[in-house]
Amino acid sequence: KTAMEKIFWRRSMEMYEKQRNWQESPEGRKMMEFRRNLPAYKEKDAMLSAILLNQVVLISGETGCGKTTQIPQLILESEIDSLRGGMCNIICTQPRKISAMSVSERIATERGEKLGETIGYKVRLEGMKGRDTHLLFCTTGILLRRLSLDRSLKSVTHIIVDEIHERGINEDFLLIVLKDLLPRRPELRLVLMSATLDEKLFSSYFNGAPRAHIPGFTYPVQTYYLESILEITGYKLTPHNQIDEYGMDRAWKMSKQVPRKRKSQIASAVEDTLSVAEFKDYNAQTRESLSCWNPDCLGFNLIEYLLCKICENERPGSVLVFMTGWDDITSLKDKLQAHPVVGDANRVSLLACHGSMGSAEQKLIFDRPPGGIRKVVLATNIAETSITIDDVVFVIDCGKAKETSYDALNNTSCLLPSWISKVSAKQRRGRAGRVQPGECYHLYPKCVFDGFAEYQIPEILRTPLQSLCLQIKSLKLGDISEFLSRALQSPEYLAVQNAIEYLKIIGALDESENLTVLGRYLTMLPMEPKLGKMLILGVIFNCLDPILSVVAGLSVRDPFLAPLDKKDLAEAAKAQFSHDFSDHLALVRAFEGWKVADRDLNAYEYCWKNFLSAQSMKAIDSLRKEFYSLLKDAGLVDSNPITYNVWSYDENLLRAVICYGLYPGICSVVHNERSFSLKTMEDGHVLLHSNSVNARNSRIPYPWFVFNEKIKVNSVFLRDSTAVSDSMLLLFGGNILRGDTDGHLKMLGGYLEFFMDPALAKMYRSLKLELDELIQT
Ligand code: ADP
Ligand code: MG
Repeated sequence: KTAMEKIFWRRSMEMYEKQRNWQESPEGRKMMEFRRNLPAYKEKDAMLSAILLNQVVLISGETGCGKTTQIPQLILESEIDSLRGGMCNIICTQPRKISAMSVSERIATERGEKLGETIGYKVRLEGMKGRDTHLLFCTTGILLRRLSLDRSLKSVTHIIVDEIHERGINEDFLLIVLKDLLPRRPELRLVLMSATLDEKLFSSYFNGAPRAHIPGFTYPVQTYYLESILEITGYKLTPHNQIDEYGMDRAWKMSKQVPRKRKSQIASAVEDTLSVAEFKDYNAQTRESLSCWNPDCLGFNLIEYLLCKICENERPGSVLVFMTGWDDITSLKDKLQAHPVVGDANRVSLLACHGSMGSAEQKLIFDRPPGGIRKVVLATNIAETSITIDDVVFVIDCGKAKETSYDALNNTSCLLPSWISKVSAKQRRGRAGRVQPGECYHLYPKCVFDGFAEYQIPEILRTPLQSLCLQIKSLKLGDISEFLSRALQSPEYLAVQNAIEYLKIIGALDESENLTVLGRYLTMLPMEPKLGKMLILGVIFNCLDPILSVVAGLSVRDPFLAPLDKKDLAEAAKAQFSHDFSDHLALVRAFEGWKVADRDLNAYEYCWKNFLSAQSMKAIDSLRKEFYSLLKDAGLVDSNPITYNVWSYDENLLRAVICYGLYPGICSVVHNERSFSLKTMEDGHVLLHSNSVNARNSRIPYPWFVFNEKIKVNSVFLRDSTAVSDSMLLLFGGNILRGDTDGHLKMLGGYLEFFMDPALAKMYRSLKLELDELIQT
């Protein structure tokens, strides 16, 4: 035997001994007894032999049956039992950071170990793994990164991709790469796990891979749709506002026939029909908030009512409320906290569950509250399948989840609450019947449910593909379009072309679709390319500190609060930050103020006084640090303790850098007698989002806006805009690093009439060339 083999052998023996000792210890026995009762464990032999005999296996089973905690563990144990423990190397991917962390911790406990020994995890910027780690939980992004360093994953023996039904863009990407890898690594095993999966689709993608199903048991769940809920609650529909089954049905049938781009319009039409239901508190205010994008506000009263009813009358058991997103969860939580019953901490423990919560918060969600107190968890769709809260008996389902959709024709994306799929609704309902018969309240009529799509549309078909294209290039996977044509479901041709074109415009790809220097740096920054680019510009132009705030601000929920009942006060508070005609600079100023206040231990008061969300401010603060360490890893800034290089807070420099980063998101400002109107090349007339500081002004002393995001509701709205001048746009718009000055000028020619003046053109052109040179050296 070689020395290496001896080491592996010794290690395998040690692992075997240790496992035996634990399983025979009193606590180990107790744990084994718990595990043996999980449906997944009961199928142990069938699962292991399927994995042994097939390179790819699909495993399905009800949420909570023990897929995530048992299957990877069973593989590990069987390797250890056959004295191959030292050689095996299992990687299990999770779509979210939080599940990678909580699951690895759970398995370590089940094995009587500390996290970081045999079981480890690795997520972005955090991890717990050691030399002896043989089962690693990580996010999909981490495995993709690893693939970029080690294309054939030489040392890996098993890859388990969990929650495969979620069809995130990274997961679909990973599957293409793995599918290519499998023939080159015949001994590698791939296991795909999910609660529900489109068996035909996956099985045919992987050459007829078999499916192993874990039979489960759930208690019956009494199901109520909106019609019967309204009946129970006594809320009345006015006769002319009846929820018209026929209308709703028709809208959904139509939505299946029209191209995807119109789907959101139709969804909002359905929403309007729904929103006319006359609830007790439904008044002008609710209507107003509906029009400014909080469609679920309407549901809040109903949820509050149901919660109160459950807390007062029903048998013990936790309540799980599915909400659309984090913003809704916080606003609902605030509202409920003021409720005499639901907000009473002696009766109800009110918790939030979402993707970015800390581990202390997580513990509370799994724990059973002390006797007599009812646990109410407000959750995003993370609680649908990735997290199991054991004692849930009541589920309230709003029927929606935040979903981005992308309209390739207009190159616009929307992040809107949209209806979930039938499969998701079933999952949500199933959460109520885990420990005893349960109840589920769907806050939508049965006919709307009947119109739901069977499965959710995969993310790759409904988001812009820019980051994905960059990743394909950085992993050297060949031609972008060809590569994507091998996806489980391929994105539209136009969507791919738009992404490539965008990357060329911002200078991340050259004409022949190769990564530029900028592009290579952008692949090291896991965020939208434009945000990465802005950070790099912040470094180059010595204004990183404020630019960190801008970029962090764009990544969190709008920190400027606008409570309906104190709208005027909130606006006045915001006005103090808004004299620059820029939402981005307003945020920088608000954050600067927060930093000072925080240093003086005054942050809370500062936020309160200025109508700022303390949570968002803290999130910005920690994101700034996170971004800084990413820049550090990419070698773009000093590795010394954080010294954000600030040369200047010069307002115009910042404006120029923001312009540079957000280009080609520009629109022209046309003044008329009383106010101004806005136009973009692709959309014609557009409007400012009502939260924008620029929406308060009737005159803008600049001819252009750059913006971060267009959102299509009924009209196209611009979110977060900054006013810029002609010369800023000429010098900083477009792509200097790419050196394609001619193309750039041509493009601007379309926007800038005055630019047809050849003398001016020449002057700007030489100025721009000078700037080019300056940056490249
Ligand atoms: P699946 O992946 O099939 O949805 P899991 O493997 O996540 O199921 O969970 C199986 C069971 O293990 C759960 O029903 C629960 O009883 C238990 N469990 C999972 N995570 C924890 C935890 N962090 N603490 C206590 N029990 C847990
Ligand atoms: Mg799971």
